[in-house]
Amino acid sequence: MGDGRPRLSTPVVWTDLHRLHEPGGEVWVGLRTPGTEVPERAERIRAALAGARLVEASPQPDEAVLAVHDAALLDYLASAWREWEAAGLTRDPGQDRVVPYIFPVPSLFPAGVGPAQPAAASARAGRFAYDTMTLIGPGTWEAARAAVDAALTAADLVLAGERAAYACCRPPGHHATRSGFGGSCYLNNAAATAARLRASVDAPVAVIDVDAHHGNGTQAIFWDDPLVLTGSVHVDPGAGWFPHFLGFADETGVSGTNRNLPLAPGSGDDEWLEAVRSLAGWARAGGAEALVVALGVDAAACDPESPLAVSAAGFRSAGRELGALGLPTVLVQEGGYDLETIGELVREVLLGVEEGLRGASERRQ
Ligand SMILES: [Zn+2]
Repeated sequence: MGDGRPRLSTPVVWTDLHRLHEPGGEVWVGLRTPGTEVPERAERIRAALAGARLVEASPQPDEAVLAVHDAALLDYLASAWREWEAAGLTRDPGQDRVVPYIFPVPSLFPAGVGPAQPAAASARAGRFAYDTMTLIGPGTWEAARAAVDAALTAADLVLAGERAAYACCRPPGHHATRSGFGGSCYLNNAAATAARLRASVDAPVAVIDVDAHHGNGTQAIFWDDPLVLTGSVHVDPGAGWFPHFLGFADETGVSGTNRNLPLAPGSGDDEWLEAVRSLAGWARAGGAEALVVALGVDAAACDPESPLAVSAAGFRSAGRELGALGLPTVLVQEGGYDLETIGELVREVLLGVEEGLRGASERRQ
Protein backbone atom coordinates (compact mmCIF):
# COMPACT_ATOMS: atom_id res chain seq x y z
CA MET A 1 0.00 0.00 0.00
CA GLY A 2 1.20 3.44 -0.82
CA ASP A 3 3.90 2.08 -3.11
CA GLY A 4 1.74 2.50 -6.20
CA ARG A 5 1.49 -1.24 -6.76
CA PRO A 6 -1.91 -2.81 -7.41
CA ARG A 7 -3.30 -4.35 -4.29
CA LEU A 8 -4.15 -8.04 -4.17
CA SER A 9 -7.69 -8.87 -3.15
CA THR A 10 -7.11 -12.64 -3.09
CA PRO A 11 -6.73 -13.95 0.47
CA VAL A 12 -3.41 -15.65 1.23
CA VAL A 13 -3.52 -18.69 3.51
CA TRP A 14 -0.39 -19.11 5.57
CA THR A 15 1.11 -21.31 8.27
CA ASP A 16 4.35 -20.77 10.19
CA LEU A 17 4.58 -24.55 10.57
CA HIS A 18 6.21 -24.86 7.13
CA ARG A 19 9.43 -23.75 8.85
CA LEU A 20 9.57 -27.07 10.72
CA HIS A 21 10.43 -28.83 7.46
CA GLU A 22 14.16 -28.56 6.84
CA PRO A 23 14.91 -31.21 4.22
CA GLY A 24 18.63 -30.65 4.76
CA GLY A 25 19.34 -31.14 1.07
CA GLU A 26 18.63 -34.19 -1.04
CA VAL A 27 20.40 -37.37 -2.06
CA TRP A 28 20.86 -37.27 -5.82
CA VAL A 29 22.85 -39.92 -7.71
CA GLY A 30 24.00 -41.14 -4.33
CA LEU A 31 25.40 -37.83 -3.11
CA ARG A 32 23.97 -35.39 -0.59
CA THR A 33 23.46 -32.14 -2.47
CA PRO A 34 22.18 -28.83 -1.03
CA GLY A 35 18.69 -28.94 -2.58
CA THR A 36 16.50 -25.98 -3.45
CA GLU A 37 13.23 -26.73 -1.61
CA VAL A 38 14.16 -24.50 1.34
CA PRO A 39 12.04 -22.65 3.95
CA GLU A 40 13.14 -19.31 2.52
CA ARG A 41 10.93 -19.99 -0.53
CA ALA A 42 7.69 -19.52 1.39
CA GLU A 43 9.07 -16.54 3.31
CA ARG A 44 9.97 -14.78 0.04
CA ILE A 45 6.47 -15.39 -1.32
CA ARG A 46 4.90 -14.02 1.81
CA ALA A 47 7.09 -10.91 1.65
CA ALA A 48 6.11 -10.28 -1.98
CA LEU A 49 2.42 -10.59 -1.09
CA ALA A 50 2.62 -8.12 1.80
CA GLY A 51 -0.56 -6.07 2.02
CA ALA A 52 -2.81 -8.96 0.99
CA ARG A 53 -5.24 -10.39 3.55
CA LEU A 54 -3.42 -13.11 5.45
CA VAL A 55 -5.51 -16.02 6.75
CA GLU A 56 -4.06 -18.53 9.21
CA ALA A 57 -4.43 -22.17 8.09
CA SER A 58 -6.97 -23.95 10.25
CA PRO A 59 -6.50 -27.57 11.34
CA GLN A 60 -8.40 -30.05 9.17
CA PRO A 61 -9.58 -33.57 9.98
CA ASP A 62 -7.53 -36.59 8.84
CA GLU A 63 -10.48 -37.72 6.72
CA ALA A 64 -9.71 -34.87 4.31
CA VAL A 65 -6.22 -36.31 3.78
CA LEU A 66 -7.48 -39.89 3.66
CA ALA A 67 -9.72 -38.88 0.75
CA VAL A 68 -6.59 -38.88 -1.42
CA HIS A 69 -4.00 -40.97 0.46
CA ASP A 70 -3.76 -44.45 1.91
CA ALA A 71 -3.73 -44.66 5.70
CA ALA A 72 -0.47 -46.64 5.52
CA LEU A 73 1.33 -43.67 3.93
CA LEU A 74 0.04 -41.31 6.61
CA ASP A 75 1.02 -43.71 9.41
CA TYR A 76 4.48 -44.04 7.92
CA LEU A 77 5.09 -40.31 7.43
CA ALA A 78 3.81 -39.53 10.92
CA SER A 79 6.22 -41.97 12.57
CA ALA A 80 9.18 -42.14 10.15
CA TRP A 81 11.44 -39.67 11.86
CA ARG A 82 10.75 -41.00 15.38
CA GLU A 83 11.48 -44.56 14.27
CA TRP A 84 14.64 -43.52 12.44
CA GLU A 85 15.95 -41.81 15.53
CA ALA A 86 14.87 -44.65 17.85
CA ALA A 87 16.73 -47.12 15.62
CA GLY A 88 19.90 -45.13 16.26
CA LEU A 89 20.49 -44.30 12.61
CA THR A 90 21.31 -40.68 13.43
CA ARG A 91 24.32 -41.95 15.42
CA ASP A 92 25.32 -45.02 13.43
CA PRO A 93 25.93 -44.52 10.52
CA GLY A 94 25.22 -40.86 11.35
CA GLN A 95 22.43 -40.07 8.87
CA ASP A 96 20.46 -37.06 10.15
CA ARG A 97 17.54 -37.50 7.73
CA VAL A 98 15.40 -40.46 6.71
CA VAL A 99 16.87 -41.75 3.42
CA PRO A 100 15.61 -44.93 1.70
CA TYR A 101 18.04 -47.54 0.41
CA ILE A 102 15.97 -50.51 -0.77
CA PHE A 103 12.85 -50.24 -2.95
CA PRO A 104 10.30 -53.06 -3.32
CA VAL A 105 9.88 -52.55 -7.08
CA PRO A 106 7.60 -55.08 -8.84
CA SER A 107 10.55 -56.92 -10.43
CA LEU A 108 11.55 -58.15 -6.96
CA PHE A 109 8.48 -60.33 -6.53
CA PRO A 110 7.25 -63.63 -7.97
CA ALA A 111 3.61 -63.67 -9.06
CA GLY A 112 1.26 -63.51 -6.09
CA VAL A 113 3.91 -62.39 -3.61
CA GLY A 114 3.88 -58.84 -2.30
CA PRO A 115 6.27 -56.88 -0.10
CA ALA A 116 6.37 -57.89 3.57
CA GLN A 117 6.39 -55.26 6.29
CA PRO A 118 10.13 -54.72 6.83
CA ALA A 119 11.32 -54.90 10.44
CA ALA A 120 14.18 -52.40 9.99
CA ALA A 121 13.47 -48.65 10.11
CA SER A 122 16.19 -48.24 7.47
CA ALA A 123 14.19 -50.41 5.06
CA ARG A 124 10.73 -48.99 5.72
CA ALA A 125 11.32 -45.73 3.84
CA GLY A 126 11.68 -47.57 0.52
CA ARG A 127 8.19 -48.97 0.91
CA PHE A 128 6.71 -45.48 0.39
CA ALA A 129 9.43 -43.27 -1.13
CA TYR A 130 10.01 -43.55 -4.85
CA ASP A 131 13.20 -41.49 -4.94
CA THR A 132 16.12 -40.65 -2.68
CA MET A 133 15.65 -36.88 -2.91
CA THR A 134 12.75 -36.45 -0.56
CA LEU A 135 14.27 -36.57 2.90
CA ILE A 136 12.38 -36.65 6.17
CA GLY A 137 13.57 -34.67 9.19
CA PRO A 138 12.20 -33.98 12.68
CA GLY A 139 9.44 -31.56 11.58
CA THR A 140 8.62 -32.85 8.11
CA TRP A 141 5.34 -34.52 9.05
CA GLU A 142 4.01 -31.50 10.96
CA ALA A 143 4.85 -29.18 8.06
CA ALA A 144 3.42 -31.48 5.38
CA ARG A 145 0.22 -31.90 7.34
CA ALA A 146 -0.02 -28.12 7.87
CA ALA A 147 0.42 -27.57 4.13
CA VAL A 148 -2.71 -29.67 3.54
CA ASP A 149 -4.47 -27.63 6.22
CA ALA A 150 -3.51 -24.45 4.34
CA ALA A 151 -4.80 -25.76 1.02
CA LEU A 152 -8.10 -26.90 2.53
CA THR A 153 -8.52 -23.62 4.37
CA ALA A 154 -8.21 -21.88 0.99
CA ALA A 155 -10.80 -24.30 -0.43
CA ASP A 156 -13.17 -23.43 2.41
CA LEU A 157 -12.73 -19.69 1.75
CA VAL A 158 -13.78 -20.24 -1.85
CA LEU A 159 -16.69 -22.47 -0.85
CA ALA A 160 -17.77 -19.67 1.50
CA GLY A 161 -17.90 -17.19 -1.37
CA GLU A 162 -14.39 -15.87 -2.15
CA ARG A 163 -13.87 -15.93 -5.89
CA ALA A 164 -10.28 -17.08 -5.45
CA ALA A 165 -7.92 -17.98 -2.61
CA TYR A 166 -4.21 -18.76 -2.55
CA ALA A 167 -2.53 -21.28 -0.23
CA CYS A 168 1.18 -20.74 0.37
CA CYS A 169 1.83 -24.49 0.74
CA ARG A 170 5.25 -25.81 1.66
CA PRO A 171 6.34 -28.56 1.24
CA PRO A 172 4.77 -28.82 -2.22
CA GLY A 173 2.51 -31.78 -3.05
CA HIS A 174 1.84 -32.57 -6.71
CA HIS A 175 4.36 -35.43 -6.96
CA ALA A 176 2.81 -37.34 -4.01
CA THR A 177 0.65 -40.28 -5.10
CA ARG A 178 -2.02 -42.11 -3.12
CA SER A 179 0.54 -44.30 -1.37
CA GLY A 180 3.90 -42.85 -2.31
CA PHE A 181 6.03 -39.75 -1.81
CA GLY A 182 8.86 -38.21 -3.83
CA GLY A 183 9.93 -35.15 -5.78
CA SER A 184 10.15 -33.07 -2.57
CA CYS A 185 6.44 -33.81 -1.94
CA TYR A 186 4.87 -35.82 0.90
CA LEU A 187 1.13 -35.14 0.84
CA ASN A 188 -0.77 -33.93 -2.20
CA ASN A 189 -2.18 -30.55 -1.20
CA ALA A 190 -3.82 -29.84 -4.57
CA ALA A 191 -5.46 -33.27 -4.69
CA ALA A 192 -6.94 -32.87 -1.20
CA THR A 193 -8.28 -29.49 -2.34
CA ALA A 194 -9.84 -30.95 -5.47
CA ALA A 195 -11.47 -33.73 -3.42
CA ARG A 196 -13.02 -31.21 -1.06
CA LEU A 197 -14.32 -29.01 -3.89
CA ARG A 198 -15.69 -32.01 -5.76
CA ALA A 199 -17.58 -33.18 -2.68
CA SER A 200 -19.08 -29.71 -2.22
CA VAL A 201 -19.92 -28.53 -5.73
CA ASP A 202 -21.29 -31.93 -6.81
CA ALA A 203 -19.95 -31.38 -10.35
CA PRO A 204 -16.66 -31.91 -12.20
CA VAL A 205 -13.63 -30.11 -10.78
CA ALA A 206 -10.48 -29.31 -12.76
CA VAL A 207 -6.89 -29.32 -11.55
CA ILE A 208 -4.62 -27.39 -13.90
CA ASP A 209 -0.96 -27.90 -13.05
CA VAL A 210 1.36 -25.22 -14.43
CA ASP A 211 4.43 -26.30 -12.48
CA ALA A 212 7.39 -26.96 -14.77
CA HIS A 213 7.28 -30.66 -13.84
CA HIS A 214 4.55 -33.18 -14.54
CA GLY A 215 1.96 -33.43 -11.75
CA ASN A 216 2.30 -37.20 -11.61
CA GLY A 217 0.87 -37.58 -8.11
CA THR A 218 -2.34 -35.74 -8.93
CA GLN A 219 -2.65 -37.68 -12.18
CA ALA A 220 -2.27 -40.99 -10.32
CA ILE A 221 -4.75 -40.11 -7.57
CA PHE A 222 -7.54 -39.14 -9.96
CA TRP A 223 -6.63 -41.53 -12.81
CA ASP A 224 -9.96 -43.37 -12.64
CA ASP A 225 -12.11 -40.52 -11.29
CA PRO A 226 -14.34 -39.13 -14.06
CA LEU A 227 -15.28 -36.10 -11.94
CA VAL A 228 -11.79 -34.65 -11.53
CA LEU A 229 -10.14 -33.38 -14.70
CA THR A 230 -6.37 -33.32 -14.28
CA GLY A 231 -4.32 -31.33 -16.80
CA SER A 232 -0.61 -30.60 -16.67
CA VAL A 233 1.76 -28.53 -18.80
CA HIS A 234 5.40 -29.36 -18.11
CA VAL A 235 8.82 -29.94 -19.57
CA ASP A 236 8.87 -33.13 -21.63
CA PRO A 237 10.02 -36.02 -19.43
CA GLY A 238 11.15 -37.69 -22.65
CA ALA A 239 13.82 -34.99 -22.92
CA GLY A 240 15.35 -36.19 -19.64
CA TRP A 241 13.35 -34.41 -16.97
CA PHE A 242 11.70 -35.47 -13.70
CA PRO A 243 9.56 -37.55 -13.24
CA HIS A 244 11.21 -39.31 -16.21
CA PHE A 245 8.93 -42.38 -16.29
CA LEU A 246 5.62 -40.66 -16.96
CA GLY A 247 4.03 -37.37 -17.93
CA PHE A 248 3.54 -38.21 -21.60
CA ALA A 249 0.72 -37.09 -23.87
CA ASP A 250 -0.73 -40.59 -24.29
CA GLU A 251 -1.61 -40.86 -20.57
CA THR A 252 -5.26 -39.90 -20.66
CA GLY A 253 -6.83 -41.61 -17.63
CA VAL A 254 -9.49 -44.33 -17.49
CA SER A 255 -12.20 -42.09 -18.92
CA GLY A 256 -10.17 -39.47 -20.77
CA THR A 257 -10.08 -37.04 -17.85
CA ASN A 258 -6.29 -36.66 -17.74
CA ARG A 259 -4.38 -34.46 -20.17
CA ASN A 260 -0.63 -33.99 -20.40
CA LEU A 261 1.00 -31.31 -22.53
CA PRO A 262 4.76 -31.86 -22.47
CA LEU A 263 6.88 -29.03 -23.87
CA ALA A 264 10.38 -29.11 -25.34
CA PRO A 265 13.15 -27.66 -23.17
CA GLY A 266 13.63 -23.99 -24.02
CA SER A 267 9.92 -23.38 -24.59
CA GLY A 268 8.91 -19.83 -23.64
CA ASP A 269 5.78 -17.71 -23.28
CA ASP A 270 4.25 -18.59 -26.67
CA GLU A 271 4.30 -22.38 -26.32
CA TRP A 272 3.58 -22.38 -22.59
CA LEU A 273 0.64 -19.96 -22.77
CA GLU A 274 -0.81 -21.86 -25.71
CA ALA A 275 -0.78 -24.98 -23.51
CA VAL A 276 -2.30 -23.16 -20.51
CA ARG A 277 -5.04 -21.79 -22.79
CA SER A 278 -5.66 -25.24 -24.18
CA LEU A 279 -5.97 -26.78 -20.69
CA ALA A 280 -8.36 -24.01 -19.64
CA GLY A 281 -10.54 -24.64 -22.71
CA TRP A 282 -10.44 -28.37 -21.99
CA ALA A 283 -11.58 -27.79 -18.39
CA ARG A 284 -14.43 -25.60 -19.62
CA ALA A 285 -15.48 -28.18 -22.22
CA GLY A 286 -15.41 -30.85 -19.51
CA GLY A 287 -17.96 -28.94 -17.48
CA ALA A 288 -15.69 -28.03 -14.57
CA GLU A 289 -17.44 -25.92 -11.96
CA ALA A 290 -14.44 -25.29 -9.72
CA LEU A 291 -10.73 -24.93 -10.42
CA VAL A 292 -7.58 -25.87 -8.55
CA VAL A 293 -4.37 -24.37 -9.92
CA ALA A 294 -1.27 -26.34 -8.97
CA LEU A 295 0.85 -23.22 -9.03
CA GLY A 296 4.51 -23.93 -9.54
CA VAL A 297 6.47 -20.99 -10.93
CA ASP A 298 9.54 -23.02 -11.83
CA ALA A 299 8.77 -22.70 -15.54
CA ALA A 300 10.35 -19.23 -15.20
CA ALA A 301 13.38 -18.57 -17.36
CA CYS A 302 15.44 -17.79 -14.26
CA ASP A 303 14.54 -20.96 -12.34
CA PRO A 304 17.39 -23.36 -11.63
CA GLU A 305 15.21 -26.50 -11.70
CA SER A 306 13.76 -26.41 -15.22
CA PRO A 307 14.75 -25.49 -18.79
CA LEU A 308 11.50 -23.68 -19.63
CA ALA A 309 11.74 -19.94 -20.27
CA VAL A 310 8.51 -18.25 -19.18
CA SER A 311 8.60 -14.52 -18.36
CA ALA A 312 6.88 -12.60 -15.55
CA ALA A 313 4.44 -11.23 -18.16
CA GLY A 314 3.78 -14.80 -19.23
CA PHE A 315 2.78 -15.73 -15.69
CA ARG A 316 0.45 -12.73 -15.53
CA SER A 317 -1.18 -13.82 -18.82
CA ALA A 318 -1.54 -17.39 -17.58
CA GLY A 319 -3.32 -16.10 -14.48
CA ARG A 320 -5.64 -14.08 -16.73
CA GLU A 321 -6.45 -17.16 -18.87
CA LEU A 322 -7.27 -19.24 -15.80
CA GLY A 323 -9.30 -16.48 -14.14
CA ALA A 324 -11.26 -15.99 -17.38
CA LEU A 325 -12.88 -19.38 -16.74
CA GLY A 326 -14.87 -17.50 -14.11
CA LEU A 327 -14.78 -20.47 -11.73
CA PRO A 328 -14.30 -20.59 -7.96
CA THR A 329 -10.50 -20.91 -7.92
CA VAL A 330 -8.04 -22.25 -5.35
CA LEU A 331 -4.36 -21.70 -6.11
CA VAL A 332 -2.01 -24.08 -4.32
CA GLN A 333 1.73 -23.41 -4.24
CA GLU A 334 3.92 -26.09 -5.80
CA GLY A 335 7.49 -25.50 -7.07
CA GLY A 336 9.52 -22.38 -7.83
CA TYR A 337 13.13 -22.22 -6.72
CA ASP A 338 14.62 -18.88 -7.71
CA LEU A 339 14.49 -17.02 -4.42
CA GLU A 340 14.98 -13.62 -6.03
CA THR A 341 11.84 -13.87 -8.18
CA ILE A 342 9.55 -16.54 -6.71
CA GLY A 343 7.42 -14.07 -4.76
CA GLU A 344 6.93 -11.64 -7.63
CA LEU A 345 6.03 -14.45 -10.03
CA VAL A 346 3.34 -15.74 -7.67
CA ARG A 347 2.06 -12.20 -7.30
CA GLU A 348 1.86 -11.82 -11.10
CA VAL A 349 -0.23 -14.98 -11.38
CA LEU A 350 -2.60 -13.87 -8.62
CA LEU A 351 -3.05 -10.42 -10.18
CA GLY A 352 -3.69 -12.09 -13.53
CA VAL A 353 -6.32 -14.40 -12.00
CA GLU A 354 -8.07 -11.38 -10.46
CA GLU A 355 -8.08 -9.60 -13.83
CA GLY A 356 -9.44 -12.70 -15.55
CA LEU A 357 -12.17 -13.19 -12.96
CA ARG A 358 -13.20 -9.53 -13.25
CA GLY A 359 -13.42 -9.88 -17.01
CA ALA A 360 -15.49 -13.04 -16.69
CA SER A 361 -18.02 -11.44 -14.36
CA GLU A 362 -18.31 -8.34 -16.59
CA ARG A 363 -19.02 -10.60 -19.56
CA ARG A 364 -21.78 -12.27 -17.59
CA GLN A 365 -23.49 -9.00 -16.73
ZN1 LIG B 1 8.41 -28.34 -10.35
